[in-house]
Amino acid sequence: MERLDSSEWYDIARDTNWTPRYVAEDELFPDEMADSFGVPRENWERFDEPYKITYREYVEVQHKKDDDAYSVRAALTRSRFFDESDPGWRTSMLLHYASITIGELGAGLAEAKMLRFGKAPGMRNMATFGLLDEIRHTQMQLYFAHENISKDSRFDWAQKMYHSNHWAAIAARANLDDVELGRDAASIGIMLTFATEEGLTNLQFLGLSAEAHRAGDYNFANLISNIQTDETRHAQIGNAVLKVLLENGNNEQAQQLVDIAWWRQWRLFATVGGPTVDYYTPLEAREKSFKEFAREFVAQQFERKLLDLGLNLPWFWEEFTESLDTVSHATHLAFWFWRAAQFWNPTAGVSPAEREWLEEKYPGWNDTFGKSWDVMEQNIVAGHEELTQPQTVPAICNTCAITMLGTPNRGISYRNYWTHHEGRRYIFCSRPCKWIFDVDPARIAGHRSVVDRLYNGVIQPATIDGFLHYMGLPPEQRGVDAHDYSWVTPPADEVASGG
Ligand code: MN
Ligand code: MN
Repeated sequence: MERLDSSEWYDIARDTNWTPRYVAEDELFPDEMADSFGVPRENWERFDEPYKITYREYVEVQHKKDDDAYSVRAALTRSRFFDESDPGWRTSMLLHYASITIGELGAGLAEAKMLRFGKAPGMRNMATFGLLDEIRHTQMQLYFAHENISKDSRFDWAQKMYHSNHWAAIAARANLDDVELGRDAASIGIMLTFATEEGLTNLQFLGLSAEAHRAGDYNFANLISNIQTDETRHAQIGNAVLKVLLENGNNEQAQQLVDIAWWRQWRLFATVGGPTVDYYTPLEAREKSFKEFAREFVAQQFERKLLDLGLNLPWFWEEFTESLDTVSHATHLAFWFWRAAQFWNPTAGVSPAEREWLEEKYPGWNDTFGKSWDVMEQNIVAGHEELTQPQTVPAICNTCAITMLGTPNRGISYRNYWTHHEGRRYIFCSRPCKWIFDVDPARIAGHRSVVDRLYNGVIQPATIDGFLHYMGLPPEQRGVDAHDYSWVTPPADEVASGG
C-alpha cells in the first residue's frame, strides 16, 4: 500500500479538533483546568510549535536514544568507576538522582494535564510526547541509580525521597504543587515548559554533563545529556503558549506567572546545582563555576528568549544576578553544617587548592565564607568536632521551604522579610519569595515547612533526634563529612605556636 508523505497529512492531523455536542464547551475545558486566561478556543488555533514531529518519527528517535543510553551503561557496567570515584562525585550523583528522578514524574503529570486540557490541538499533541518523555526520564534515572545501591544503600533515595518527610522533599513537593500540578494547562505551559524547562534545565543537565565527562563518569554524562534533548523538544510548548496569550493581550498575567515560576525553580536549581558545581565536584573535573554556568545558560540565553517574546526581565533580576556571588557558598555551608540532616555526605571542599579556585572564581570568598571555614577547621584541629555541628534547626522560608541564607562576616547580611496573614507571621528568605506569597496567600499559607512542624507539635519528640527521625534519617543514614576531615590543614600560626 502506498503511504502518504508526512508533509501531506501532518498539518491536518495535528490540527484536528472537534465541536462538542453532548457537553458544553466549558465543561469540556473548564477554565480552572484548561485556561485561567479565558482565551477563546478559536484563538488557540494559532498555537504553532516550531519543531514538529510525527508519532512514527518520535518512536524511532526515542528508541535510538534509549539504545544509546543503555548500551553505554552495559559497556561500562564492569568498570570500577564508582568504587574508585571521589566521594564528592558520588555525593553529586546521589543528590541529582534523589532530587530529579521523581520530579520528572511530577513533570509528566503536568504534561498529562496539558495533553487533556490544552485548548490547542497542537499543544495536546506535543504534550503527549512530553508525557512519554518524562516517563522515560523517570524510568531511566531509577534504573541507573539502582545499580549503585549495592555500593551505597542511600541511592534508594532516588526512589523514596519525594515520598519522605525530608526537608528537601517537602520543599520540592510544595514547589511542584504550585508551579506544575496545581495550575491550569495554559499556566503550566508558561511555568513548567517555559520558565523551568527553557529557563533552567540546561543548567542542571548540560552543566553537570560537562563535569561528569571531565570526572570520567561517561555513563552519567551520556544519560543526562540524552535526557536534555527531550526537554529541548517539549519545552517549545511554552513559547507557543506565550505567543497565543500575548496576542490576546494577557501580558501582565503571563509575566507574573513567568516571574513566580522562574524564581521558585531558581531557588531549587541553585540549591541542588550550587553546592554540586562549586564544592562536590572534584577540583580537576570542574569546568566552570556555578556562577559562570548560571550566567551562560540562564542569564544570557533566558534573557534573550524573554525579550524576543516581548516580555520583560523579571522585576527581581538584579537580586538574581547579585545572588550568583553567594548562593552556592551559603547553601553549601548550611548543608555541611547541618550535615546530619542530609541523606548525602556533604563535601567540605575547602582544601588549600580548592580555596584558591574559590577565591579566583569569587573574589572576596576568603574574607567572607572562608573565615567561617577557618573556624570550622580550627575546631576540628582542636578536637572539638561537636562545635561544628548545630544545636538548633535552621530558619526556613515559608515560600520556597529552603533554609534562609546569608553571607558571613559582611556585617548585617541576614535580612528577614515577613508578612502577617490571618493571625500568623510568615517569614521569607528574599523579596521575591515574600512577593510570591503576597500575590496569592491562599496558595501557600496552609503549607507547613519541616521547622513549622517541629514548633507546632507534629514532630515528636521535639528534639534534634526526633527531627532527624521524622525526616527519614535513622542514625546510620545521616550525612557525615564526605572526606572524613582529610581536607583539614592546621593553620600555619597554630602549628608555629604549638611548636
Ligand atoms: Mn524530564
Ligand atoms: Mn520536561
